[in-house]
Amino acid sequence: MKSKTRKIKVGDLTLGGGSPVAVQSMCATHTQNIDATVSQVEDLAKHGADLIRIAVDNSKDVQALAEIRKQTKARLVVDLQENFPLAKEVAPHVDKIRYNPGHLHHLEKGSKIEEKVAWIAAIAKDHGLALRVGVNCGSVAPDFLERYHGDHVKAIVESAAWHCELLDGQKFTNYVVSLKDSDPAKVVECNLAFSKRRPDVPIHLGVTEAGLLPDGVIKTRLAFEKLIPLGIGDTLRVSLTLPNQEKYQEIVWGRKILKDIEDGKFISVPNFGKGLNIISCPSCSRVENSDFVKLAMEVKDMTQFAKEHKLTIAVMGCRVNGPGETDDADLGLWCGPSTVTLKRKSLSVGSFRYHEVLAILKKELDTLISS
Ligand code: SF4
Repeated sequence: MKSKTRKIKVGDLTLGGGSPVAVQSMCATHTQNIDATVSQVEDLAKHGADLIRIAVDNSKDVQALAEIRKQTKARLVVDLQENFPLAKEVAPHVDKIRYNPGHLHHLEKGSKIEEKVAWIAAIAKDHGLALRVGVNCGSVAPDFLERYHGDHVKAIVESAAWHCELLDGQKFTNYVVSLKDSDPAKVVECNLAFSKRRPDVPIHLGVTEAGLLPDGVIKTRLAFEKLIPLGIGDTLRVSLTLPNQEKYQEIVWGRKILKDIEDGKFISVPNFGKGLNIISCPSCSRVENSDFVKLAMEVKDMTQFAKEHKLTIAVMGCRVNGPGETDDADLGLWCGPSTVTLKRKSLSVGSFRYHEVLAILKKELDTLISS
């Protein structure tokens, strides 16, 4: 079934309304490393990326972005997390901006969220940009979590729907919405509920922090295979934890999944998700230490002995999203520049050097299994 959402424009690309599902990815290079970022943008474009996202956290990143823009013709999207006031500086250099409703409250605390959204919408209008309202399970707006008593799915859907109303109120309709979770079942639930609520709004699909191959692709397929045949999903990203030089695999897998769904080829993994679940972020410019991907792989190898146990271990690359996005895991690790913080649910066990943390994780895992 084809999507019945409205059509929107991202540069010269049309999203929604039955247009081909656009496949996107995100650079994992440091944005200020212009050569490396341009090279990754070109590599992703060469493999068929329709849109390429870059993280921008400060004015130096914006300066680098301006230079990157000059050196590539690829359609660029900027991901603003906490520092949404950068939207104005970023706008001349991109085709689309993603803002996270769950991060708007951190800065300019004296202004209402409504005013911040109106300001972002005005910038997008002035520059002819698209927006993405990107709601994420690890950073849901606290007032929505409170209102729905911690019901994550409801909070995610209602937060997204409210932001649509705010943008509509500004007579701005050139936007998409994403509702991401690391659990494919919740991604299906959120997107089904949202698409019933707002059948007109184009959707960006993704399973966040799907992790390493092959599980990252399996988790993503489990969600996409239920949604895309229903006409839900106008653009997608397969978020995989990969070495930097293999980032293009996100595009290759995105296209393969779309093709398989079109051909009626679906996966069958009866016991998947019954044992140990490792989630890890796909890394981005914010990654604090290049050893992150290696650490995620080592965690996977080291924990094989516990693969029958129904536990979740989360490995995140930075302090921006790492602390929040490890809260629900039985054991979580988030990476800093020289240390890794280990958590048991939301409680910190401590911060450890990269070469020490695996042994301590093993002890924690042993304790959990034997308790
Ligand atoms: S957790 Fe941090 S490093 Fe990983 S993708 Fe998210 S923002 Fe980037």
